[in-house]
Amino acid sequence: MKVLVVNCGSSSLKYQLFEMNDESVLAKGLVERIGLEGSVLTHEPTDKDKVKINADIKNHTIAIGLVLEALIDANHGVIFSMAEIDAVGHRGVHGGEMFSDSVLVTADVIKAIEQCIEMAPLHNPPNISGINACTELMPGVPQVAVFDTAFHQTMPKKAYMYALPYEAYEKYGIRRYGFHGTSHKYVSQRVAEMMGKDYKELKIITCHLGNGSSLAAIMNGQCVDTSMGFTPLEGLVMGTRCGNIDPAIIPFLMKKESMTMEEIDTYINKKSGVLGVSGVSSDFRDIEKAAEGGNERAQLALDMFTYEVVKFIGSYAAAMNGVDAIVFTAGVGENAISMRANITAGVEYLGTKIDNEKNNVRGKEREISVDGSKVKVFIIPTNEELVIARDTAKICKK
Ligand code: ADP
Repeated sequence: MKVLVVNCGSSSLKYQLFEMNDESVLAKGLVERIGLEGSVLTHEPTDKDKVKINADIKNHTIAIGLVLEALIDANHGVIFSMAEIDAVGHRGVHGGEMFSDSVLVTADVIKAIEQCIEMAPLHNPPNISGINACTELMPGVPQVAVFDTAFHQTMPKKAYMYALPYEAYEKYGIRRYGFHGTSHKYVSQRVAEMMGKDYKELKIITCHLGNGSSLAAIMNGQCVDTSMGFTPLEGLVMGTRCGNIDPAIIPFLMKKESMTMEEIDTYINKKSGVLGVSGVSSDFRDIEKAAEGGNERAQLALDMFTYEVVKFIGSYAAAMNGVDAIVFTAGVGENAISMRANITAGVEYLGTKIDNEKNNVRGKEREISVDGSKVKVFIIPTNEELVIARDTAKICKK
């Protein structure tokens, strides 16, 4: 069975074609600048050279059309015909309270995703465009939507409610949804496998640390809490997002700086986080370099980030009344050696002890705690596409 995984952003589209018999990737690629000047498709077949295809890519339908052409091309293609694609899996960002699992796309499902647009104005419209494009170009091929929010739907009410008047939840669905769910699901299930333990008997804290960062507490195979909230702005200090702040700062700043709604939104989403604090960059590599060179604000940004992760791990250990394993994943979690060392040092009281030799690695799946560490610590490169492909195959086989 072959599954095409599609991840549509507003001006980009990432894809991977999987052979599910052995879960291998036949090809992957990226379409950039959809609807803009200079749009381009970069196609990477697994056993052949990468190609760049420049074209006027006005919308997602044209983008998907080019992807399909690339996949069956005589030179850089990996399949003979489009008919070989058995199913398409879409990365969906916001499924609200309607989806606690992946679903087969139907007209009702599209309607439900449309209903969530208000909560994810940047993400859900391109998701729908991607689904419509595939319906048009691959009629009859089943499509599955896999939502970032779905894994977190098991959170108890005390964890997902905000202490606003109850009507805010009833009228507008204002509650914690959480994001990066597909990643938290993948690495938490994988860590149980690596430990040779039953997923349903473990207490796991997963740290997805990238440009956007979130933690999740997973107990007995279910997510019980996560740091992102109604939107992906809540929780940790991120690349350009402020994370948790006193909400009263928003009206205060708007008044002082005469900011509009759009301006304050940009301020907290695009200009804050480690970028705002350091004044250097949103990229942790640049900030680490600047800190090494003596830049105090860069060091402060790193210290604030580490401190927040340490506090969240402590609070999730408290929420679950214990923890068996901590997992690091995503760009920073997989690669930032000293960051992992500092975070784990900050939670040593829980019984974590890492081996500096084992930790001295980037992007490799491995345990990094010493033998006998009470809480095991792991690096697990995330693989959201594989989860989407697996869910798609499972649902379409039924
Ligand atoms: P997202 O998917 O949220 O855009 P990623 O998971 O790709 O983000 O993570 C991107 C972040 O990972 C960047 O801030 C980058 O600096 C960081 N990163 C990548 N490699 C390293 C490294 N070697 N050391 C520190 N940070 C790194």
